[in-house]
Amino acid sequence: MGVIAVTASGRAAARRLVAAWPGEAEVVSGERPADALRAAFTRHSAVVSFLAVGATVRVLAPLLAGKHTDPPVVCVDESLRFAVAVLGGHHGGNDLAHRVAAVLGCTPVVTTASDTAAATPLDSYGADLGLTVADPAPLASVGTAVLSGDPVRLEGAAGWPLPPLPENVAPDVPYPAAVIRVTDHVAAARGGVPTVVYRPPSLVVGVGSARGVAAEEVGAVVEAALASAGLAREAVRAMATLDLKSAEPGILAAAAERGWPLLSYPAAELAAVDVPNPSEVVRAEVGTPSVAEAAALRAATDLGSAAELVAPKRKSANATAAVARLRPRGRLAVVGLGPGARDLVPPRALDELRRASVVVGLDQYVAQIRDLLRPGTRVLASGLGREEERARTAVREARAGAAVALVGSGDAGVYAMASPALDFAGSDIDVIGVPGITAAVAAASLLGAPLGHDHAYISLSDLHTPWEAIERRIRAAAEGDFTVCLYNPRSRRRDWQLARALDLLAEHRPPETPVGHVRNASRDGERTVLSTLAEMRAGGADAVDMFTVVLVGSSASRVVGGRFVTPRGYRWRE
Ligand code: SAH
Repeated sequence: MGVIAVTASGRAAARRLVAAWPGEAEVVSGERPADALRAAFTRHSAVVSFLAVGATVRVLAPLLAGKHTDPPVVCVDESLRFAVAVLGGHHGGNDLAHRVAAVLGCTPVVTTASDTAAATPLDSYGADLGLTVADPAPLASVGTAVLSGDPVRLEGAAGWPLPPLPENVAPDVPYPAAVIRVTDHVAAARGGVPTVVYRPPSLVVGVGSARGVAAEEVGAVVEAALASAGLAREAVRAMATLDLKSAEPGILAAAAERGWPLLSYPAAELAAVDVPNPSEVVRAEVGTPSVAEAAALRAATDLGSAAELVAPKRKSANATAAVARLRPRGRLAVVGLGPGARDLVPPRALDELRRASVVVGLDQYVAQIRDLLRPGTRVLASGLGREEERARTAVREARAGAAVALVGSGDAGVYAMASPALDFAGSDIDVIGVPGITAAVAAASLLGAPLGHDHAYISLSDLHTPWEAIERRIRAAAEGDFTVCLYNPRSRRRDWQLARALDLLAEHRPPETPVGHVRNASRDGERTVLSTLAEMRAGGADAVDMFTVVLVGSSASRVVGGRFVTPRGYRWRE
């Protein structure tokens, strides 16, 4: 990106951006500031201007060509209070304003409609899945209809794990003011209602050929196969063939000309694919009765979760082509929300919450993050004890093609929802894990540095684990001299387990061993207590409940300056 600054403070801030993003940001200079700005705009993929918005707009106005081609422009005011996304908001400008604001410590200013309304922006709708806009012209009027609450019909989106759209956008709208259509068909445009067409990356073209085939011939039979079924070439995601043909210059060139990756498979794998038009002649030649149909189906199955043939094999003198459509893979994000405080929720988790069309979780966790969800997000919350049901629901929704976020507190993989969900999930959905700050780590940072050396997590809940197994692990951790983090330490119904665990640990630890416990770390009513093993066994443990995590030191743990420290044991200390 190009950075333009004139004043001393602007130049100092420009240097901070360049230092923050080496190799990405570069100060552009010119005879006059306007020259520098014009040069940056024409040569760089993004512009940060330390000139006033008015000055920047006046200089750039004659150069503006269109939001899809112009580089985004962000202006920062002289006193470094605001980073304003001036141009190309949805094409990187809004993100850039946020990034600049983060480096300079100022406030990002974003004015594009869908960002202020927090609805999914249409120009990048499904872009991360590979959806492309067939024609950007109707985007503005359809976008206005979506944001105004007009009835908008959504066609063909089922099965694609797309982000949510507001409730006025639905599949069954009889008299829509606008239409959003996801299709790989080159359907004739119907006049009247403004319609945005998205091309999903749903098709795979399988090809076969004789040796020495010309690229033009491969291209022609491919285009004919697509046209025969009325399919859009923008929806083609890849070309596929037999390994033996993967270096065939005509095939390579035909794929490269269209910007499609070429995938290839061994004959034995293609021979195993069920196809409508097998040929014994082909089998005798190359070892599989089908190349084009089998390769298309096989690749589409790999890229999606299942496949169907939508254009059967077509032949020319030296080439064959067939087209398969894939069933998209659903998306399950397993998202840890951290111990409670909003600023301990990782940015990636926030992105995934806003990316999801369905959010599944315990009601109290979902309540914590409801304000972050985009309009139209379906929320499936349930109460304590319904873990298995939530895990099944999340997987079932993802399998049906939704973008699901399954949320849990702390880290969603630590005594939480990730493992039951992944126990049900097959390889037919994509799973994205977002790590969270688990209770032990949140508590440790409040207590000092108790986890500086080896430590073990043990849950004292014997609801799903026999107590003998838990006790065996406590004994092992005691004997192994680990610092021990006790989750689910005590509840009204499970009131003796913590005392028992402390007794077992005391067999291998001195009475003055530090024990820290934190209740509601980073939540309202947070309470941090630093105690000792002896005190805990003499009644201190009564203050512990199911909102508390207990950390018992190893024999090396100490209290230093009122803080719980487990030495790392570096030699340089000696
Ligand atoms: N997935 C969660 C743990 C769920 S088990 C995580 O990674 O943190 C529930 C137990 O975690 C509670 O009984 C308590 O021991 C601990 N816990 C969770 N959040 C806590 C918090 N904010 N403060 C203290 N302990 C917490």
